[in-house]
Amino acid sequence: MARIYNFSAGPAVLPEEVLKEAAEEMLDYKGSGMSVMEMSHRSKVYENILNEAEADLRELMNIPDNYKVLFLQGGASSQFAMIPMNLMKNRVADFIVTGQWAKKAYQEAKIYGTANKIASSEDKTFSYIPDCSDLPISENADYVYICENNTIYGTKFKTLPNTKGKTLVADISSCFLSEPVDVTKYGLLYGGVQKNVGPAGVAIVIIREDLITEDTLPGTPTMFKYKIHADNGSLYNTPPAYGIYICGKVFKWLKKLGGLEAMKEINEKKAAVLYNYLDESKLFKGTVVKEDRSLMNVPFVTGDEELDAKFVKEAKAAGFENLKGHRTVGGMRASIYNAMPIAGVEKLVEFMKEFEAKNLK
Ligand SMILES: *Cc1c(COP(=O)(O)O)cnc(C)c1O
Repeated sequence: MARIYNFSAGPAVLPEEVLKEAAEEMLDYKGSGMSVMEMSHRSKVYENILNEAEADLRELMNIPDNYKVLFLQGGASSQFAMIPMNLMKNRVADFIVTGQWAKKAYQEAKIYGTANKIASSEDKTFSYIPDCSDLPISENADYVYICENNTIYGTKFKTLPNTKGKTLVADISSCFLSEPVDVTKYGLLYGGVQKNVGPAGVAIVIIREDLITEDTLPGTPTMFKYKIHADNGSLYNTPPAYGIYICGKVFKWLKKLGGLEAMKEINEKKAAVLYNYLDESKLFKGTVVKEDRSLMNVPFVTGDEELDAKFVKEAKAAGFENLKGHRTVGGMRASIYNAMPIAGVEKLVEFMKEFEAKNLK
């Protein structure tokens, strides 16, 4: 068996330790005589898996008691509708558009009310985070929305926007558990787990209790009401049971590592290996302004499309997979999530140096 270095933006690399443990438990989970995949979500055994996952996540993120944690289906994209359906009481929300995912959320919200684009970085292909210290926040806005780490473009909010007292809602799909967060600064934060936490099929929503109400927009489907899921402890219907079990293992892996402070240190060290090389390389260059660089997604180019394609092809043959940039940006992108070992990035940089020596004209 040979595992490659997988730089996919998502679904993405998971800790090898977690996969091995899951493999060992595949046929008989802790003496239950069955796989977690085959288990009733209402059984005692599964209840323990779910409760432990929530408790570990609360500990890792230091989630206050007045926030609910919901494990839902429908990916991050369902939240683009679920958020306005539940939170848009005045039918107004402000959006900071820093990439395709923020744009999609903004467009979806328009179905339900007035969505205002109060800042954007589209003028420079989303290669920076706009100044959000003094934005024209709408007086009657129900919330201000951001995508905190822009998976496709490789930017990250290093400081949260000044929402002038309005509720902050954030998509943290691609920076989930990559560093400590102050949950109290948000009304709602959420993410699809397939970027940095677990297998596709689970979305985690962390929401302040006062935002969970009966008062949703008319026509909101039952499954799209936060209250239904909160009142039923994420067991209103069948949850993405196996996915949650893997997330739980990743939470334990993070705790063993020393939690999110320790994870952040590792991520900074790991990203620096790649960014430092990009800054000195005469062939490759990063596409994002330095101060807004993501620790998770690192887009870069040679400036020559043919050479980019050659690099992606040769890198793949050398065991570095999924380095092709998103179709809307081109070039390359290395996603170096929590589970990417630092050795993977060091070896990639070695390979890039060799490629540079051979191809620099
Ligand atoms: C991948 C991604 C999404 C979409 O996730 P799905 O689970 O496929 O709906 C949304 N936001 C961000 C930041 C992402 O990276």
